[in-house]
Amino acid sequence: MGKVAIVTGGTRGIGAAISKALKDAGYSVAATYAGNDEAASKFHEETGIPVYKWNVSDFNACAEGIAKVEADIGPVDVLVNNAGITRDGMFHKMTPEQWSAVIDTNLNALFNMTRHVWEGMRERSFGRVISISSVNGQKGQMGQSNYSAAKAGEIGFTKALAQEGARKGITVNAICPGYIGTEMVRAVPEKVLESIIGMIPIGRLGEPEEIARCVVFLASEDAGFITGSTLSANGGQYMV
Ligand code: NDP
Repeated sequence: MGKVAIVTGGTRGIGAAISKALKDAGYSVAATYAGNDEAASKFHEETGIPVYKWNVSDFNACAEGIAKVEADIGPVDVLVNNAGITRDGMFHKMTPEQWSAVIDTNLNALFNMTRHVWEGMRERSFGRVISISSVNGQKGQMGQSNYSAAKAGEIGFTKALAQEGARKGITVNAICPGYIGTEMVRAVPEKVLESIIGMIPIGRLGEPEEIARCVVFLASEDAGFITGSTLSANGGQYMV
């Protein structure tokens, strides 16, 4: 059996593409989700990838969920922190609920998930932690102070933890996608979509599979010298 990978939010959108690409690359994959049972069972039927439901913003639920995955499939070698939400709003109207939901799901989840696989990775002297941040965490985005803060926090987490894992064979990296053609992005009015594409030098949206291929590379043995890095995949929209 190949290495074991968990992909949070691995049943829809970018996460589904990551789950499939890792499976195609020989990993035993567990895909997690929050509550959309219909999408998760459709994904499972199509791919054969086992799905697990728990809330990544709940520390204890992550402990139980990861223990179940490890009992079913084996110790986790690769963790992809992909689950994320938006609750956009201008700051002068933002509620504490909007702020907390986004910080809990996008940022606190990195602690909740990584904490439970970290010791095992240290013991086995191998691990890959890959977090899906965002271009909006790099540059900031009006109407997304909560999301930009969480996504920038993911990058800081990555750089700090990379230093702790380096001598233990564990790499920790972040990927910052730009606009990706998920259902949500494609559903925006045509005029808005045109103006979004106008901001992207490459002249198109990214594909979920393009982010998935970045993950497969960072998870591989070939990427063993890359840690603490932030891989931008945004069609040239923002260059750092
Ligand atoms: P989707 O909305 O398509 O899918 C989100 C996934 O995360 C779903 O599987 C969802 O489960 C799961 N999820 C949400 N909240 C929780 C939770 N509390 N606990 C467990 N699972 C949860 O997202 P995208 O594919 O668009 O985005 C994936 C990642 O990429 C996110 O981190 C996002 O911020 C980032 N990103 C996306 C971009 C884009 O253009 N789409 C651009 C830049 C970054 P369920 O199906 O049950 O709801």
